[in-house]
Amino acid sequence: MSGNILVKAVHLKKYYPVRTSFLESILRGERIFVKAVDDVSFEIKRKEIFVIAGETGSGKTTTGKLLVGLEEPTSGEIYYNGEKISGIPIKKWKKHGLRKKIQMIFQDPYESLNPRQYVFDILAEPLIVNKVVSSREELYDRIMRKLEEVKLIPPEEFAFRYPHELSGGQRQRVVVARGMILEPEFVVADEPVSMLDASIRANVLDLLEEFRSKYGVTFLYITHDLATARYVGDRIAIMYLGKFVETGPVDEVIQNPQHPYTKALVSAIPVPDPEYARKKKRFELYGEIPTPINPPKGCRLHPRCPLAMDICSREEPPMVKVGPDHYASCWLLAKR
Ligand code: SF4
Repeated sequence: MSGNILVKAVHLKKYYPVRTSFLESILRGERIFVKAVDDVSFEIKRKEIFVIAGETGSGKTTTGKLLVGLEEPTSGEIYYNGEKISGIPIKKWKKHGLRKKIQMIFQDPYESLNPRQYVFDILAEPLIVNKVVSSREELYDRIMRKLEEVKLIPPEEFAFRYPHELSGGQRQRVVVARGMILEPEFVVADEPVSMLDASIRANVLDLLEEFRSKYGVTFLYITHDLATARYVGDRIAIMYLGKFVETGPVDEVIQNPQHPYTKALVSAIPVPDPEYARKKKRFELYGEIPTPINPPKGCRLHPRCPLAMDICSREEPPMVKVGPDHYASCWLLAKR
């Protein structure tokens, strides 16, 4: 593995068995699975902000949870810094030094912060559990520094408030501070700004950039929103029903999308100019994303794709190179 690669996933799959009645299982003759992540491979470079984007139900959050050990893969491998970490149970992550290095920032500050704890205690807990501070002074200094870094200033004022005494943006800054308090190398940020007003999203996303430049942190940023993906990301993978359909540099993929699914997502990005929005041609798909239980054969988009051909419902399209470091999986591109 190249020294520049921090995280590598190889043929990663996560299937969840679906409970069925005894009669149904006899009639079907096979077990049914939700194929949340179905054979994805990718690499994340050091100090990179890599984005996985897609609709709800595409498998992006499950992919993030696999990387931080909150889910175990059904098959495939995950490597961190050249070491295979898939297969190491989460209980042993601390022993392997992984718990401090790999963290996750969750999307919903209402659910992820304990309402009965002061901000100080929320941030103190990981430092105490992981035994990374040796005195009360060190604990206090580290928490104050982190609050300053997430722009909760003056930190003494915010440290002794409860989450309900903060605004939505301030709560999300506490969530970011907690994700960063152990000074991790790699952070999965799952929709960290989706609950915030558009006006303050950029301010919170700027924190990721600041932690990257100050401490060299590598991020996986998970989102359904291509506008924020473009704001913060370096490279992007577009995910649909458990598979990557297009990957590449984020500007290139959004300016020059090649896969019909990416085209549909890009054409749905809101534009501020109403006149331009009126003239803008939309690329629309049919219907809604189907359930990942037994997804469509061939290309998974074919029941929704206005460009589908016969082959699309029979055979899965290969991933083809469409530009420098830019790949897409569609029969229209493979036939060129
Ligand atoms: Fe559409 Fe066929 Fe391309 Fe799939 S492979 S995106 S169905 S044209």
